[in-house]
Amino acid sequence: VKDNGRNSFSFYNSTMNANVLRNVNINRRLRYAIDNGKLEMYYQPLINLQTGKICGAEALMRWTDEELGFVPPDEFILLAERNGLIHQLGDFALTQACQQAAKWQAISPMQIAVNFSSVQFRDCHALLAKIIAVLDKTGLPKSKLDVEVTESLMISQESELSSMLAELRHLGIQLSIDDFGTGYSALSYLQKYAFSKLKIDRAFVMNLSENEADRSLVKAIIAMAKALNLKVVAEGIEEQAQADFLKRLDCEYGQGYLFSKPLPADEFEKLLIEDNLS
Ligand code: C2E
Ligand code: CA
Ligand code: CA
Ligand code: CA
Repeated sequence: VKDNGRNSFSFYNSTMNANVLRNVNINRRLRYAIDNGKLEMYYQPLINLQTGKICGAEALMRWTDEELGFVPPDEFILLAERNGLIHQLGDFALTQACQQAAKWQAISPMQIAVNFSSVQFRDCHALLAKIIAVLDKTGLPKSKLDVEVTESLMISQESELSSMLAELRHLGIQLSIDDFGTGYSALSYLQKYAFSKLKIDRAFVMNLSENEADRSLVKAIIAMAKALNLKVVAEGIEEQAQADFLKRLDCEYGQGYLFSKPLPADEFEKLLIEDNLS
């Protein structure tokens, strides 16, 4: 019994150490990546489900490190939120995405969605100033930027948050609630803040074809969004049947591998040009 206990303890201990070590390495290499231009933004098309046309893109960060290989954004973003590097990552994502989207306006009047971490909103004034400065510098029309935040931001009791989000909307910048349905679920915030879009999380879209409960849930979310004057984006559409169902429910926009995976800027640009000609 004693031996078993000791073995399981040391096993637990060694996996724990492996995790700690990986996190230390990610933190270290992420600093290197920022300083040496090793991060890249990819772009996933946002599709108008009624017309099938590209009407925008979501910018998603990619990092392949020489030592660690490909590191998923879910993993390094979480660590960057803890060590403060998220501010630099966020600036990079915003600047790159706005620069590209400004250039792509010559091809199509597309929108660009950029993900923001709740941590970036701890200093609302600085963030707002940053967003305005980047829009000015890149020349992207304000109405073409879509600021994506998650429900976790709504937990914050900051009184400044409310006026900052209102100011964003006042300037004509779009504001989306991401991963809807997976986080903090008091719905009152949907009325409190003037969101323009609601993104239904992939978890609900995944089983639309098989699962009656998920179908009802998605129907209800779309109906609620319409009642609140929000546009709806369905995330993670992989099958035509899912797209057809969402289209029948009058869901305006979709994103997912069915249409395209996130692409490097040059590949997205080609797709945008083709889509515009067809
Ligand atoms: P998210 O904002 O919910 O992004 C959508 C994720 O779903 C992306 O994963 C995308 O590649 C993936 N996806 C899109 N369509 C499909 C599909 O049809 N099937 C499946 N299985 N997946 C699909 P990714 O790029 O790995 O990003 C993961 C998360 O990392 C993002 O979730 C976001 O929370 C975070 N993230 C990525 N880039 C940034 C960034 O620049 N800033 C911040 N703050 N977070 C970011
Ligand atoms: Ca997102
Ligand atoms: Ca999402
Ligand atoms: Ca997510």
